[in-house]
Amino acid sequence: MQSLLSQRIQHMSESATLLIHKEIQYLKSQGTTIYDLSIGEPNFATPSIIQEGAKEAIDTGQYCTYPPIAGYKDLREAIAHKLWTENQILCTPEQIIVSNGAKQALYNLFMCLFDPGDEVIIFTPYWVSYLQMTHFAGAKPIFLKGSLQSNFEPTIEQLASAITPCTKAIIFSSPSNPSGLVLSKPYLVAMADLLDKHPHILIIADEIYEYIHFGDSLTSIGSIPSLQDRVITVNGFSKSYAMTGWRIGYLAAPLWLAQACEKLQGQSTGGVCAIAQRAALAACDVPRETLQEITATYRQKIDLALAHMQHMQGVLCNRPLGAFYLFPDISHYFGYTDGRVLITNADDFSLYMLQEAKVSMVSGKAFGIPQCVRLSMATSDETITKAMESMQQALSNLRPWPCQSNIALPKV
Ligand code: PMP
Repeated sequence: MQSLLSQRIQHMSESATLLIHKEIQYLKSQGTTIYDLSIGEPNFATPSIIQEGAKEAIDTGQYCTYPPIAGYKDLREAIAHKLWTENQILCTPEQIIVSNGAKQALYNLFMCLFDPGDEVIIFTPYWVSYLQMTHFAGAKPIFLKGSLQSNFEPTIEQLASAITPCTKAIIFSSPSNPSGLVLSKPYLVAMADLLDKHPHILIIADEIYEYIHFGDSLTSIGSIPSLQDRVITVNGFSKSYAMTGWRIGYLAAPLWLAQACEKLQGQSTGGVCAIAQRAALAACDVPRETLQEITATYRQKIDLALAHMQHMQGVLCNRPLGAFYLFPDISHYFGYTDGRVLITNADDFSLYMLQEAKVSMVSGKAFGIPQCVRLSMATSDETITKAMESMQQALSNLRPWPCQSNIALPKV
């Protein structure tokens, strides 16, 4: 009966990060201790001011009916105000569409923008869903890869040569999941100069990790005046405010596109949960110092893990400029064995680490760089320390294949 499924859904892969999450939940339910570095979710509770916002909304009894498709007016006003005062992105509340997480905002965009034959330039490594959404829309992904030495930042020349008459949009996350790349102002200005020659190309800037960056300031590409009418900024409350479960994201787009996304959302899910929207409005009042403190703790966690990683022979890692992941190149261990199993790629490496070190991570294959694995630092210092020690121990058991024996080994 599976063949009854549409071609579209048959060709879609399940989210690699969610798949591994399910596997870990299963192992944990069996009593296995897992040092979980696989999931990109803050490990602290939603700040109480936000929870109070939701409680008050429930108590008024006024938020029990269908919310507006695009989001409550006051929330859209608060977001437009934030975008102007913090990001210098000029837009009206009508250009904001509130969705079920940044994920739905992105989905709306991909469905409203791309047709078969369109090309989408994707900064690589990429967040897993960009690729699947591109395929789902029938468009063609064009991968733009940077090297580990340059923090995975592709050059402007690479970008220029990736552009063809079919290019419809460029998408990146900055700060990046998984590489931690943050695109600097000079880089974005150079990009804008290039795109002046290509006025029909849209730019989708996913800024969901906006507050989690380790430099002095962060530039939004939507603030560059020459690009103003073709940048779509995607953002949300999940990561910065520890609100992954509340499902509030948004996009700021040119009006014609925002209206199309509203139409699609109106025919699919409707507006976002009324109570969660009121909580998001309360989140807009969280002092920026609180967010900075949270960012400082992520930075310490990254430093903690990097200090351990220095002692892992053959493991190469860039220092992230933002977000809360490490994305080390572990390809040194391809062709290594513990005498029982052979590691040939990042999937094998992740599985070996799960089985031998009880550390969960996500294979870089899912992010378009199969030499790497992604480790999330959004967890306790204790888990990070134990995970790093356990990984180091498991690495020390690996030897290059072939070793003394000639017996063919099974892969992990
Ligand atoms: N973009 C990126 C880069 C992400 O990492 C995520 C979540 N992992 C999302 C979008 C989706 O976020 P949300 O929880 O708001 O749907």
